Amino acid sequence: MKLKSLEISGFKSFADDTKIEFEDGVTGIVGPNGSGKSNVSEAIRWVLGEQSAKNLRGSRMPDVIFAGSSDRKPLNRALVTMILDNSDHYLKSDYTEINVTRKLFRNGESVYQLNGQDCRLKDILNLFMDSGIGDNAFSMISQGRVEAIFNSKPEDRRFIVEELIGVSKYRLGKEKAQRELDQTAGYLDRVNDLMTELG
Ligand code: ATP
Repeated sequence: MKLKSLEISGFKSFADDTKIEFEDGVTGIVGPNGSGKSNVSEAIRWVLGEQSAKNLRGSRMPDVIFAGSSDRKPLNRALVTMILDNSDHYLKSDYTEINVTRKLFRNGESVYQLNGQDCRLKDILNLFMDSGIGDNAFSMISQGRVEAIFNSKPEDRRFIVEELIGVSKYRLGKEKAQRELDQTAGYLDRVNDLMTELG
């Protein structure tokens, strides 16, 4: 699975329709302070279903809609489409290319689409669950979070590494198995007690 391109229109500082193509290898986005570099990563976070305006440096979700500038009027809707190459079917979908779209209008109307079809937020969250690129995944590390990670305790940092390499789900499985073992040991003790009582 690979991020192919991102279409942004009316989202934050991107008033015009903008298409960013991601070529093979590493892509770096450079530009002066305040030119909109973080807005690109926020567009990705948003289209993946981010529900917290605070995580997008706003106070309410419509703050993501282009608010106007000295020479342009504010716009009425924000739109982001993310196009993924899924030819390896890393995401559990029959599609070899997946388009995810999110739109938000100033009146609060919100639209989510998967490959051009209207869908629920839940469908998008389900598609990315366990893929490592969901809205809460560590694949997106914001500026503030880098500092938090460096300053965190070793155990907390280990938790992050475990999340990244996908060990967390095994840890949860191990904890569940341990609870079941403890419960079974309890039943066995009870059976032994009964057998002793019965002589
Ligand atoms: P730095 O290098 O300082 O981190 P940056 O290149 O990451 O900066 P961003 O933080 O992505 O820049 O962009 C900030 C710019 O986006 C500001 O100029 C801000 O006014 C603009 N901006 C944010 N939200 C909106 C909005 N809703 N409408 C218009 N412009 C917006």
